[in-house]
Amino acid sequence: MIELTERQGKILDIVRKHQPITGERIAEILDVTRAALRPDLAVLTMSGYLEAKPRVGYTIKSEGGQGAIKKILCQYRVKDVKSMPVVIKDVSSIYDAIVTLFTEDAGTIYVTDRDGYLAGVVSRKDFLKTTLGHIDIYKVPVSVIMTRMPNIIVTTPDETVIEAVKKIVEHEIDSLPVVKKYIDENGDEKLEVVGRITKTNIARLLLDLANQKREG
Ligand code: ADP
Repeated sequence: MIELTERQGKILDIVRKHQPITGERIAEILDVTRAALRPDLAVLTMSGYLEAKPRVGYTIKSEGGQGAIKKILCQYRVKDVKSMPVVIKDVSSIYDAIVTLFTEDAGTIYVTDRDGYLAGVVSRKDFLKTTLGHIDIYKVPVSVIMTRMPNIIVTTPDETVIEAVKKIVEHEIDSLPVVKKYIDENGDEKLEVVGRITKTNIARLLLDLANQKREG
C-alpha cells in the first residue's frame, strides 16, 4: 500500500467526478503538461486506484474503494479486536453498578446471573432513566433496569468484524457482549461473557489500518 501525494489525490477526485476522462483532459484541469502527469497516472494505475481503458480514458477501479474496506473488515474476527468485558452480578444495586461504570471507565456493563451466565445489559441511558422516577438506587438491584435476555444482541469470537459492525449499526447500540454458547442439562442455551466489542474497538481498528497504510 502506498501513501498518495497531494496531486495524486487531486487526480482521483477529478476522475471520480468526470470518469471516464482522458489523461489530456486531467492535465488541462490541473494546468500541467500531459508528460508531467505520466508518472502519477502510472502509480495510480499500477497500485490499483485507477483503470486505464484504451480510447475511453481513466476510471476509478471499484476494488480500490468500498470493496476494499469490506474485504479488510471480513478478514478480521471479533477475537482480534475485542476487549475485556465489565461484568457485575444481577443482585448488585444500581448504585454499585454506577460506581463500576466510573471505576472501570465503561459505557455499558454486562450483568450475569448467579451461575455466571449473561442475564442482561445496562448502559448510560438505563441509568439516566432511573433519575426520572423514584427508584432507591441503593436498594433496587440492577436487574430491574437492565435490558434482559433473550433481547440481548451478542457476537462470538469467530464472527467477522463486518458482521459485528452490522449488528451495532442496525440495533443502534454502542457495544456487543462477546459470548461462548453452552447448552445446559435442560437443553437451554447459556451464554458466557468472554469479551466486549465497542465502537471504540472498531475506531481503533480503522486507525491501525490507516497507519499500516502510511508505513507500507
Ligand atoms: P447509551 O445508553 O450510552 O446510549 P446504548 O445505545 O448501547 O448506550 O444503549 C441503548 C439501549 O440499548 C439501552 O437500553 C441498553 O440497555 C440497550 N443495549 C445496549 N447494548 C445492547 C445489546 N448488545 N443488546 C441489546 N440491548 C442493548
